[in-house]
Amino acid sequence: MTKLTVLGSSSIFPFPRTQSNLFEDYLDIEHYQKNFPLHDDSLCNEAKKGEKNRRTRSCLAIQHNGYLILLDSGPDILYQLRRAKLPKPDAIFITHNHPDANYGVKYLANALLYSESAKTMRAGHPVNLFGIKILPFRVHHARNTPTVGFLVRFPNGKKIIYATDMSSLGGLKKYFQQANMALVDGSILKRSFGGHLAIISQLKTYKKWRIKSVLFTHIGHSTLPYKELRVFVKNKYKNTDVAYDGMTIK
Ligand SMILES: [Zn+2]
Ligand SMILES: [Zn+2]
Repeated sequence: MTKLTVLGSSSIFPFPRTQSNLFEDYLDIEHYQKNFPLHDDSLCNEAKKGEKNRRTRSCLAIQHNGYLILLDSGPDILYQLRRAKLPKPDAIFITHNHPDANYGVKYLANALLYSESAKTMRAGHPVNLFGIKILPFRVHHARNTPTVGFLVRFPNGKKIIYATDMSSLGGLKKYFQQANMALVDGSILKRSFGGHLAIISQLKTYKKWRIKSVLFTHIGHSTLPYKELRVFVKNKYKNTDVAYDGMTIK
């Protein structure tokens, strides 16, 4: 049995956001909303109500034959595991050395850690674990921070891509075209910046490549509330959807 769960779906900061927008303010995900003044805009006001606009830092859980693998592990990881009623993971794969992706590693010391900074993984070299094959591939994201996406192959032959931080899709067609689903960078809607390729630019390419199923996660603040974002992306390319915390993927 294999089950995928989106444990978190925000970019570097969760939703709703604080006015100070300091990484430190968000370290205690259960208490910051009471202790810091929050944004008053449509996206954050929707997030205050909860449901699909309330987002924690991006993480994907893969449950397979009693094992648990996490792709990325940000500051919210213990809260996310508790909320999803999941145990501590057996293994963690890290896309890159930015705190929204790897801050939680220190809480999960017993898990097998696969990351480039720990030198336990190298782009282009697949890892076989619990019957699952995970290939890290190089993506462009930030200067001085080597970053990968993952092509994950399950025993039934199905494949997914997890690439939440990328400033370009150059050279990635060969990975994307293999995937039944691609979980990708939803940081920015229209104008690429800060190491992230805008959603509209990505969609043009995914449509051209005829990707079977695209799911935006790692959602940032310069986007739209969930329902509007969903309509927006589906209008550009119908095989597209927007992730939310707690979403399960068949
Ligand atoms: Zn806001
Ligand atoms: Zn990053």
